[in-house]
Amino acid sequence: MTILSSSGGERVERWVQADFLGHDAEAGLGIEARGPGQESRPQNWKLSPSDFAFLWEYCKRCFHLKVARQFGPPRTPFPGIFGVIDKLMNEFFNGLPSSDVDPSLPPGTVAYGESWVESEPITIPGHTSTCFLRGKFDSVIRFEDGSYGVIDFKTTNTRGHHLPLYSRQLHAYAYALENAAPGKLALSPVTRLGLVCVQPMDISRDAEGRISYIGEVRWIEFNRDDDGFMRFLGEVMDVLDLPEPPEASPSCALCKYRDDARRTQL
Ligand code: SF4
Repeated sequence: MTILSSSGGERVERWVQADFLGHDAEAGLGIEARGPGQESRPQNWKLSPSDFAFLWEYCKRCFHLKVARQFGPPRTPFPGIFGVIDKLMNEFFNGLPSSDVDPSLPPGTVAYGESWVESEPITIPGHTSTCFLRGKFDSVIRFEDGSYGVIDFKTTNTRGHHLPLYSRQLHAYAYALENAAPGKLALSPVTRLGLVCVQPMDISRDAEGRISYIGEVRWIEFNRDDDGFMRFLGEVMDVLDLPEPPEASPSCALCKYRDDARRTQL
């Protein structure tokens, strides 16, 4: 689950950076990272679905460095309270009928809580390297017709323009479930993908003085677009197969700090 601020460009940027600076449990370093002099050797890149939203969008250089060079951005402190919210959301929805997620969903039950998935190696036309997907989804619904729905919980601005970015992450979980590596969780077919977005709107206090946050809940569903997802993986492979990392984002304070440190030798 990801926490994003609800307003203010600067705050959004801060949260966006927090989102890809290593807080997601599935985020990790490529296990077959490429070092200097290894540029031409085909790889099997490990891709974390949670990197497909903000890390990819914000800076291709950081994405390349993290996956291909095992040089990820520094981790920042992540308040434990967000882990508590994740756990509460999962526990609340686990076992509920799909209609409690959203009335538009077919009959079913929230049957799986947080679970790891891993795909078989994926071959992308035009690339000698392959990739595989490894990550942890929030929840999966088992529908009565035998199909599945992958859902992710977000505490965020429920109208945020950033929300479509999560479609790739959900597609990645669906792909990994339908094309699971041997011994990994396999569920198929995955017919629905969506976000349960909660935006805190109000606060109340009970007789014992306890505080409750009141939130608007919005279900945001994404249509399966497997061709589009494969095209996206092709773009990812294009970046990973570059002999050198792409240019840094000129507005990134962290890279400016690194450049200043090099220049001043401090
Ligand atoms: S500009 Fe530099 S530090 Fe900033 S996101 Fe890109 S590679 Fe990472």
